[in-house]
Amino acid sequence: MAAIAQVEPLTSARALGGPFDYALPDEWRASVHIGSLLVVPFGRQELLGVVVGLAEHSDIADDRLRAPHSTVADDVPADLVELADWVAREYCSTRARALSLVLPVGAGADSQGLVRLVAELTDGGLQALSGGVRLTPRQRALLEQLAQLGPTRASALAVDHGTLRRLEARGLLELSSRALRRAPEHVAVGASHGPPAALNADQRLAVAAIDEALAARAHQSILLFGVTGSGKTEVYLQAAAAALEQDRGVIVLVPEIGLTPQTVARFVERFGETVAVAHSRLSAGERRDEWLRLRSGEARICVGPRSAVFAPIERLGLIVIDEEHDSSYKHEGDPRYDARHLAAHRAEQAGAVLVAGSATPRPESFASLRQLRLAARADGGVLPDVEVLDMRNVRGALHERTVHALGELRRSGGKGIVLLNRRGWSNFLSCRSCGKVWGCPECDVALVLHRAEAMIACHHCGHRERAPTCCDVCGSAGVARHGLGTERLEHDLAHALGEEDYPVFRLDADVATLKGRAAEVLQRFDRAAAGVLIGTQMVAKGHDFDGVALGVVLDADATLRFPDFRSEERTFALIAQLAGRTGRGRGEGRVLVQTMAPTARAIEHAARHDSEGFLRGELVRRRALGYPPFGELIRIVCSAERAGLALRAAQSLRERLVIERAQVLGPAPLFRLRGRERAQILIKAGDRTAAVAAVGAALAVPVGREVAVSVDVDPQ
Ligand code: ADP
Ligand code: ZN
Ligand code: ZN
Repeated sequence: MAAIAQVEPLTSARALGGPFDYALPDEWRASVHIGSLLVVPFGRQELLGVVVGLAEHSDIADDRLRAPHSTVADDVPADLVELADWVAREYCSTRARALSLVLPVGAGADSQGLVRLVAELTDGGLQALSGGVRLTPRQRALLEQLAQLGPTRASALAVDHGTLRRLEARGLLELSSRALRRAPEHVAVGASHGPPAALNADQRLAVAAIDEALAARAHQSILLFGVTGSGKTEVYLQAAAAALEQDRGVIVLVPEIGLTPQTVARFVERFGETVAVAHSRLSAGERRDEWLRLRSGEARICVGPRSAVFAPIERLGLIVIDEEHDSSYKHEGDPRYDARHLAAHRAEQAGAVLVAGSATPRPESFASLRQLRLAARADGGVLPDVEVLDMRNVRGALHERTVHALGELRRSGGKGIVLLNRRGWSNFLSCRSCGKVWGCPECDVALVLHRAEAMIACHHCGHRERAPTCCDVCGSAGVARHGLGTERLEHDLAHALGEEDYPVFRLDADVATLKGRAAEVLQRFDRAAAGVLIGTQMVAKGHDFDGVALGVVLDADATLRFPDFRSEERTFALIAQLAGRTGRGRGEGRVLVQTMAPTARAIEHAARHDSEGFLRGELVRRRALGYPPFGELIRIVCSAERAGLALRAAQSLRERLVIERAQVLGPAPLFRLRGRERAQILIKAGDRTAAVAAVGAALAVPVGREVAVSVDVDPQ
C-alpha cells in the first residue's frame, strides 16, 4: 500500500505542471488508486487533483510533505488517466487540462460539502460565444473555459464572485449548488425503423469482416467506405451487437447531435437502456448520470459527439466514427485534440476494433486503413445526376437552369435542398460615394448584414452594431449591399416560390443557436410533403430524408477559396454529401452545382461521384507538398493586443525551434482577431513525436506576459 500519492492539481496555469507528492494518511492507503480524486492544499489554495501515480517514498522531506485534505467519491478509470497523459503530450498541452476532459461532470461536487457553488454555462452563454453579445476578453475567456470544462466550482475559476453574479444576471451562466437529476429524455425518436433489416451482400460482407476482427480480439482499424445511403448505420448497429455479445463495450462517435439525431435514435431504439447518450444539450446532472451509468457498467454503449471518445467504458471492444470526415471531431479549445486520432489510440490500447465510416473519407484514412466497401444505395436507388453550371459571365445569384429547376420543383410539388455556405443577408456593406467598407473594430474582417435584426455582425468575434442607414464618414445615404447569404436567399426564394402551401425552411447557425431548433427544422422539412430547405453546410450532414428530388449548391467554390490545403476535400465532400441527401427513398434525384471554377478537380470528381479518383489525386498532391499523411503539421499562433508584439514573439520562438527533418514556415502575420494581432508559424515535420517535443521545449522559455501562444497539432 503506497504511502505517497502523486497528484496532478487541476489548475489551468501552464507553469504549474505537476505531479506533486502528497503523504497519504494510513486510513486512505487502501482505497486511493490511480484515478482517485483528492482535494489537496496547493500553495494557499485548495484544489481538486487526480492521482496519477503512487509511490513508497518521496524526495520531499517528511516535514515539508503535505497531506490531502479529503478524498472525493468520484474517480476516473486508470486507462483514462493514461489517455489524458498521452493527449497532453500529443497536443502540447498540460496534463491538468487534458485530465479535465476525462473527469465526470461536476467531479468532487458532492464530496463533504466542499463545493458549494458551481458555475455552469447556460444556452444563452453558449450562444454568446458564437456571437451576438458584447463580452470583455476576460468574460469571454471565462465562458470559454466553462464551455470546455462543463459545470465548474466557482472557487476554481480565476474570477471573483461579483463577476460571476453579473454574468448570471445577464443569463450567460448559472450558479447553483449541485443538484442531480435522473433519466435524460432521449433525443426524439422519429419513425420506427423496425427490426434489423435483412442485410444486402455488401453489408453482410462488412459485418462479417468486423465480426471476425472482433473475434480475433486484437486491434484493427477499418474504413467503411460506403456511398451515401448505402446503409452504414445498419452495419454499425450489427457490429455493436456483436461487441456486446462478447461482453465488450462500444463507443459511437457522431458529428453534432443536434444535426444527426437519427443515428442516435436508431441506437437507442435498437439497444434501449444499455445506450448512454452524451451531449451538451443534456443538463449537467443528466450528463453526470449518463457518465456514472457507463462507469458502473450499467450502460455499455456510449453515443455522442467528439467528447464521447473519453467515455468510461471497461473492456472496450468497438469504436465507431460515423461521418469520419466531419470537421466537428476536432476540438478547438486547448488541448486541440482530434477525436479520430484519440479513438485510434484508444482502440489500439484496448485491443478494440475501430470502424470509421464515410462516403467521403479523409485522404489519410483512405491511405492507411483497411477498406470495406458498400457500393450501392441500400434502398435500391441510384445516385443523382450532378450537373455543373458555369457561373462565369452569369449575372445574378442563380443560373437560369437553377431558376428553371426550382420552378419545376414548385409545380410538381417536390422537395429540394439549396446549400449556400454563408449566413446573413449580404457579405459586406460599402459606401457608394466614399468607398468605406464597414469592418469589425476588433478583427480585420468585414461585418455581415443580418437584416431581420437590422444589425451588422462579425462572424469571427461576435461584435454587433446597428446596421447603418448612411455613411458616418461622408454622410452619403448610399449604402451598397454586396453578396448573398442564407437569410437573403430564404427571402428571395420565399418570394419566388413560397406560398402557403409551399414552405421554405432555413437552417444555419443563426437559426440553430436556440435549443433544439436545428432538429426541429430538419424534422419539419422531413415531414413536409413539399418545400425547399435552404441553409449552410448543416443541410448536407448525414440526414436521411425521403424523396428529395433536387439539390442545389450555390457558389460551390466558396470553400475552394480558403487558403487551406483541405479546401479541395471540403468542397468535394460538401457536394458529394448534398448529392447524398438527394434521391433517397422513392423517386429520382438531380443535383445542380453552380461554380466559377467548373473544371476544378474537386468539382469534376464530385459531379462523377468519383470519390476514389478524387482521393487518389489528393494523395499525390499531398505527397508532393509533404502534407498529412506524408508529413505532420503543427501550427503555432502568437497573439497580443499591443502592435508588433505577436510577430516579435513568434520570431524569437522561431529562432528557438530546433527540429530535425522539418520545414518551419513563417512567422507570417494573420488577420487581427478579437482585438489581437496574430502571427503564425507552420511546421511540416517528418516525425511527430520529435516535433511536438521540440515545440514543447521552445515553449518552455516564456514569450512575455502580454503574448498568448496556442499550439495546434494537426490543425484543421
Ligand atoms: P448511410 O449512413 O450509409 O448514408 P443509412 O444508414 O442512412 O445510409 O441508410 C440509408 C437508408 O437505407 C436508411 O433508410 C436505412 O433504413 C435503409 N437500409 C439500410 N440497410 C438496408 C437494407 N439492407 N435493406 C433495405 N434498406 C436498408
Ligand atoms: Zn461614405
Ligand atoms: Zn470581429
